[in-house]
Amino acid sequence: MATVTQQSALDSIWAKVEANERLDHEDGLTLMESDDLLQLGQLADAARRARGGTDEVYFVQNLYLNQTNVCRVKCKFCAFAVTRKQADAYTIMPEELVEDALRQRELTGFTEIHMVNGENPHVDFDFYLDTIRRLHEAMPDVHLKCYTASEIHHMTTLSGLTHEQVLVELKAAGLGSLPGGGAEVFADRVRRLIAPGKEHPDLWFHTHRTAHGLGIPTHCTMLYGHVETYEERVDHLLRLRDLQDETGGFLAFIPLAFHPENTVFERRGWTHTAGSDDLKMIAVSRLLLDNVENVKAYWIMMGMPLAAVALHFGANDVQGTVVREEIFHAAGATTETEQKIDELVRFVREAGRIPVQRDTLYNELRRWGP
Ligand code: SF4
Repeated sequence: MATVTQQSALDSIWAKVEANERLDHEDGLTLMESDDLLQLGQLADAARRARGGTDEVYFVQNLYLNQTNVCRVKCKFCAFAVTRKQADAYTIMPEELVEDALRQRELTGFTEIHMVNGENPHVDFDFYLDTIRRLHEAMPDVHLKCYTASEIHHMTTLSGLTHEQVLVELKAAGLGSLPGGGAEVFADRVRRLIAPGKEHPDLWFHTHRTAHGLGIPTHCTMLYGHVETYEERVDHLLRLRDLQDETGGFLAFIPLAFHPENTVFERRGWTHTAGSDDLKMIAVSRLLLDNVENVKAYWIMMGMPLAAVALHFGANDVQGTVVREEIFHAAGATTETEQKIDELVRFVREAGRIPVQRDTLYNELRRWGP
């Protein structure tokens, strides 16, 4: 139950949302600290509609690839990465990866490949370029959404090139956009605790800003539900909003809940985020990120039932068919790894919304009646 003070603060945020005014850091904290979940949902949905949102809910048909799980960084929250000597280490050569993707395409007809990897120190920049070139040549109509900002930075250390040069070469080879991973939580305190080996967040921003300047759209994320405070969450969102003001290059924001299984945090007894926190993150993201059109309820992480509720908390996208997801499953996600289009359509309709299949750039490919 909200206190009287909380309630009047929420009322003043309502007034701002109705007037389509920008919310500030203090408003963000008020929202994060509120336990009036239903009002947060109403506010976020009202904000989405006030900014032109409709009943349409997007999804994409995509294939998830992870070419290598070998990683030099060792983030403490990561259950996916291994060293080269571990028995389950793998690095798939570009030609083999393409053959596999072509086989998958016969089965599912995806329009997007989403690929992220460990930062493997035993490959060179040509490995990445060759991979993109071959994928693009084999499937020129498939959008290649590949490599987090951390991986782009890793390629600069492998090659001696600048971030811009790496991105220019990848774009020329066929890269379409960047996923949003590697952002975690930008606050230095948090990075030191959960990802001390990862590059400074300024490099995440530098990479995305550079990509946007080159006409490469990107996505943005936050990995929440570990050591971060509400202040640090709000700070993270506002820093993303600032870059979006500057470049307009983010296609979507995806809040990612931390999954503790098979990480050091599991041994400390940590558990999953509560569903209420997941919904709060969707709602507050929608409210603060007034310049990012799409907020995704990532069903692979939150499960279909909660993702359906999130559509009433400001989300307008459920990601996609997600053929083969390994990273969250390494950390204990138990959702099915492939949801057929008709299941996605059914669940969007049951949430009272209109399913629209999109491509990566949010062009409409197909729609279903309400
Ligand atoms: S999160 Fe990425 S960079 Fe960190 S250990 Fe895992 S694979 Fe490596």
